[in-house]
Amino acid sequence: MKTEFIIAAAKAIQQTILANENTLESLDRAIGDGDHYINMKRGANTIVDIQAELASLAPNEAINKIGLKLLSTIGGASGPLLASFFMAMAKVLRENGDESLLKIAAAFAAGVQAIIQRGKADIGEKTMLDVLIPVSNQFKLLATPNGDIKLICATLINTAEQGMQSTKDLIATKGRAAGLGDRAIGHIDPGAKSCQLMIEAVCKLAMEA
Ligand code: ADP
Ligand code: MG
Repeated sequence: MKTEFIIAAAKAIQQTILANENTLESLDRAIGDGDHYINMKRGANTIVDIQAELASLAPNEAINKIGLKLLSTIGGASGPLLASFFMAMAKVLRENGDESLLKIAAAFAAGVQAIIQRGKADIGEKTMLDVLIPVSNQFKLLATPNGDIKLICATLINTAEQGMQSTKDLIATKGRAAGLGDRAIGHIDPGAKSCQLMIEAVCKLAMEA
């Protein structure tokens, strides 16, 4: 992994968040408090704004810096959760290295595990984890030394899409939507949607590289 790729990924994430303003806003208005787009936009803009600072860092340091920055800029439930993802991912990259897909997949899994622990949630609770857990499991399975990056990315894009769609028919047992009971059914979880968009953007970038 290169820091250059991390910066390009941050820009791709910013673009997809900005391009999906209406979708993210209306999903969180339907089953949350309507601030998810604003939170994600603030986070994405902040990271792109510090790109010069990130450029001088090793990949694991840049990812840790992203986590720290998100912790202090994104509000809501999603801020500390996404921050813990990046900080846990950075720790594993620092300890194990970042030179293979297998190592990146292991670091991604550690990030997802940190969200599980911090949010005390699991798959099936209508949250971002309905995207992140299946994507992480699939990534670990496919990240073999001979793994074809294009095929892996295409699969992860599909897995994220399916996970995001799966939240539609669930009732929420974590987060703000948990108070809605059956009324949450029929709406995609906003955090699941933003994670799907981010995974799609980063995978498309990796496919081009
Ligand atoms: P808030 O809920 O504080 O308004 P956001 O609107 O930014 O914050 O984020 C809401 C998203 O956070 C939800 O759509 C869901 O995906 C995610 N989320 C909320 N609580 C949890 C949790 N305990 N574990 C994992 N994800 C969660
Ligand atoms: Mg909200």
